[in-house]
Amino acid sequence: MDVFNFDFYERLRKDYQQHRSLFVAYDYDNTVFDYHNQGIDYGKIIDLLRVCKLLGFTLILFTGNEGEQLETIKLDLMKKGIPYDLINENPLMKTRKPYYNILLDDRAGLKEAYINLKKLTDEIQNKQI
Ligand SMILES: [Mg+2]
Repeated sequence: MDVFNFDFYERLRKDYQQHRSLFVAYDYDNTVFDYHNQGIDYGKIIDLLRVCKLLGFTLILFTGNEGEQLETIKLDLMKKGIPYDLINENPLMKTRKPYYNILLDDRAGLKEAYINLKKLTDEIQNKQI
């Protein structure tokens, strides 16, 4: 029974067209960092985050790490040139629920999110939207 028709890409494109920007949230462990040292290359996701930064999107790192671990993460992001504007912050409201137009997280449909965000940034860069 197909009662739920949710077009992920259409909604993302509309968000962008309305605000000419996006809030892009991303996770650290196993999304931009190979936490289990399995030799996984997250370069494509990192490249996409860099493109998002160039397009003026707001990048929010959401991580469960705190204290010294978080400082280590900030250093790692800086060394690798992985951009962020905020860490564990809701950019719009004083509420603990994270806010974003799209989330890149290995536990939350990373592949689908990547494909849709890549498609959108490609279209913006090719001046198709
Ligand atoms: Mg993770």
